[in-house]
Amino acid sequence: MSYKLFIPGPIAVSDKTLQAMAQGMIGHRSPDFVKLYESIQPDLQELFYTKDPVYISTSSAWGVMEGAIRNVVRPGKKVLNCMNGAFSDKWNDVSKRCGKEAVALKFDWGQPVDPAAVRAELDKGGFDAVTIIHNETSCGCMSDIDALMAVVREFPEVIAIVDTVSSFSVLPIKKDELGIDVLITGSQKALALPPGLALCSVSKKALDRAAEVTDRGYYFDFVEFQANHEKGMTPSTPTIALIYALKSKLEDIKAEGAANRYARHARLNKTVKDHVLAKGFKLFPKDGYGSLALNCFANNLNYDLSALNKTLKSKHGLVIDGGYGKLKGKTFRISNMGDETDETIAAMLKAFDAALAETPVLPAA
Ligand SMILES: *Cc1c(COP(=O)(O)O)cnc(C)c1O
Repeated sequence: MSYKLFIPGPIAVSDKTLQAMAQGMIGHRSPDFVKLYESIQPDLQELFYTKDPVYISTSSAWGVMEGAIRNVVRPGKKVLNCMNGAFSDKWNDVSKRCGKEAVALKFDWGQPVDPAAVRAELDKGGFDAVTIIHNETSCGCMSDIDALMAVVREFPEVIAIVDTVSSFSVLPIKKDELGIDVLITGSQKALALPPGLALCSVSKKALDRAAEVTDRGYYFDFVEFQANHEKGMTPSTPTIALIYALKSKLEDIKAEGAANRYARHARLNKTVKDHVLAKGFKLFPKDGYGSLALNCFANNLNYDLSALNKTLKSKHGLVIDGGYGKLKGKTFRISNMGDETDETIAAMLKAFDAALAETPVLPAA
């Protein structure tokens, strides 16, 4: 099983990262762990553009996405879920499953979240929180987080919960400057770590709110995270191997320079986009709102995408994505997140061309 992932998560993990994970275990209540935890905080805070703590959760991103809802929405108050794709749609379902009064603000998949529509909803009052997905990975659509946060800041009682799972470290997302209260990301997207770790930075305002909410549960309780954070620890035994990997990745990012990392992602994203558009495909998301972490293309030429991926995997040792959920077969997605270079992207595109040339076109439905 040796193939390289160009799906939008999980993505390829470097040998350096894999080796970083293969270190001996330390006790999670030991001074060695405290040293490890405290050594990565400043670098994490720098990448989050925040003075707030960055909690480390042993879970996938959904753990803290659900946890955030449970922490900051009081009984009798509402949460506004901005929905424009599979992940943001699901957040509405998750909010309801947490027993919260969840208001759905729906846009077509591939359309960005409209700031004016967010203002119109929040103006109705009674909201404790809003959920926004910066980069809707399912359809490769990136909303204008600056414009959205400018609206949310007009409502100081509303806690802004922002998922940057697939955009974190792809471009700067200035948490404190934008007024984001809860910023969430996961390990297996642009950080190019194996899955299993979520990172979450929480403002004082969100923490104070959490202290007022009684049914926060335990595992994702922000108050519990904060109490342990102050000791350089996590509430329960964390995935220490992944924290070793995170430390190694933070070193990589520092060595490259964050600005260079952002520029590299933008450049490679454009390389893929230009190449595939030149073959006659169209971009799926609305013009001007394409993601910088991946490209989601419409399958307007009607290629047999499962045949394409089969060829890519068996003959070229790589895998792209054939469409998420209801977009399966109708779109395909190619990731440019993580450690990709001009060379690896060029090799992937060469393989894509060769595989496409032998892929059948399906009869029109
Ligand atoms: C991948 C992804 C998630 C889900 O992450 P898990 O780690 O599977 O919980 C949520 N939001 C976005 C935008 C994603 O890309």
